[in-house]
Amino acid sequence: MEQRFDIPISRRDFMKLAGLTAGAFFSGNVDSTKKVEASTNIEKHFNFEGANIPTLMSADVCVCGGGPAGTAAAITAAKNGLKVILIEKGISLGGLQTLGCVYPCMPTFAYDSDTPYINELNLRMKNHGVKEPVPNFETENYYGGGRGLYIPELLAEIYDELCEEYGVDILYNTSLIGAITENKKITSCIVQTIEGIFKIDAKIFIDGSGDAILSRFAGVPVEKGSNKTGRNQPMSFRFEMSGIDERKVRNFFTKKLKDTWNVLPAPFFEFAKWKKTEEIFNKGVASGELTQDDILYIQVFTILGKPNTMSMNCPEMPPLEFSSTDTISYSKAISFGRKMMRRLAKFFIKNIPGFENAFISREANLIGVRESWRIIGKYYMTDTDYFEAHKFSDAVCRTAYPIDIHDTTLDFSKKLKKGEFYEIPFRALVTNEIDNLAVVGRCASGSFAAQASFRIQPTCMSMGEAAGIAAAYALKNNISINDVEWNEIPENQRSYVSQSKN
Ligand SMILES: Cc1cc2nc3c(=O)[nH]c(=O)nc-3n(C[C@H](O)[C@H](O)[C@H](O)COP(=O)(O)OP(=O)(O)OC[C@H]3O[C@@H](n4cnc5c(N)ncnc54)[C@H](O)[C@@H]3O)c2cc1C
Repeated sequence: MEQRFDIPISRRDFMKLAGLTAGAFFSGNVDSTKKVEASTNIEKHFNFEGANIPTLMSADVCVCGGGPAGTAAAITAAKNGLKVILIEKGISLGGLQTLGCVYPCMPTFAYDSDTPYINELNLRMKNHGVKEPVPNFETENYYGGGRGLYIPELLAEIYDELCEEYGVDILYNTSLIGAITENKKITSCIVQTIEGIFKIDAKIFIDGSGDAILSRFAGVPVEKGSNKTGRNQPMSFRFEMSGIDERKVRNFFTKKLKDTWNVLPAPFFEFAKWKKTEEIFNKGVASGELTQDDILYIQVFTILGKPNTMSMNCPEMPPLEFSSTDTISYSKAISFGRKMMRRLAKFFIKNIPGFENAFISREANLIGVRESWRIIGKYYMTDTDYFEAHKFSDAVCRTAYPIDIHDTTLDFSKKLKKGEFYEIPFRALVTNEIDNLAVVGRCASGSFAAQASFRIQPTCMSMGEAAGIAAAYALKNNISINDVEWNEIPENQRSYVSQSKN
């Protein structure tokens, strides 16, 4: 089918669209202050209203972005009986978990944080022959919930399987490029597909794009970066190496270097540039094999179910040079990061026993963006919510994951005590501006520091799950999703029930 769509884009609109990242605003306030007045909306840059765009599909719920959060939202909404469309610009679900080679799913350091969706995912991994998707580390370390060791390729297959089973229509290789709003509601989102440009109509929209793209199109206020430095969290370009003798690597770090960074039982093993191992990487810089940027952050994990292969949580592109919210800088970071990756691989092969026959077996095809744009929703989470372990009657999940900022100039090293946790209220997933929108995952409502804690995968998945449940509840009760009182949903329908009365 050959179709052509005539959309009147003026050169000026096009230039504005291209420059959508300009004009960030940072207040210089400390992180714990409430809402920074900031906006980098893109809806004003191009107006699709009145354009003759055919409708491709209609649904109860349209989820934009198939990362851990968006996928959880789509699957849960479908499981609750809704017709769901999930738009994903890549060709697998999982976002950074799969396309970005991010592994493993971090622990929440809070007991009982795993919501039913996470339990189901773990069970599916097990059913696919992964003997221990969630190893019991409790005896050695305090991990709490999360901890899923999801093999990226298998996870992508499981997501397809879940979508097929519950009836989610996935549109792969489809990019969200705009939204039409009317009376505080999104009526359609605009997508670029292999056939051309289409409209998708839905009653409820869920933004799981990681970059708050739908929210920005719809005019929801957003922030980006630290309000102290103006910088986003650094990006990383993750990759995997295979052909590794893992036992030899483990022995080298634990026996020769006496590195206690990793005390977890085999076969899981991790090494990092950390105290006793720093010297080996510093020597690489001194010899000219590596640059100072290359060793900014080095962390490497074995992948359960992928023998002789390790997942590299590096290279990390220098945050002073590159930004995840600037189109040109973002692209330059990729080429820069690829060079860093090659240098690191060469260095490992030459200097780390066990890597002699190793090679790069996979390079991420989604750049590792830790933080870009975050919405300012009905509730705005701050570092105070973390440090004071706040609880909420409308909480959708709990976590104690630390404020993990990869920028040494910002110190948030203080952690909650073992057993303490904070909760994320449903109000952090909805906005005052758009009645039929929920925003999940790393672009949910919160400050730079708060996001540095809630951005980990299990928390993003639990947020998505809650949005899926809330969407079903809203449609059934004929209310807007941003009017849903999470604590009024019957307990047996909620994925998480807080003990708090606040
Ligand atoms: C380098 C790095 C290491 C990390 N390490 C860990 C770790 O070890 N453990 C852990 O738990 N967490 C880790 N995280 C954090 C975690 O992986 C992310 O915060 C989490 O994946 C966010 O989930 P999300 O669904 O909000 O967004 P994402 O995972 O970013 O997914 C967003 C999805 O939306 C899609 N999308 C974006 N724009 C469009 C568009 N216009 N149209 C259609 N689709 C679109 C993307 O393709 C993607 O699939 C790490 C993050 C990074 C960057």
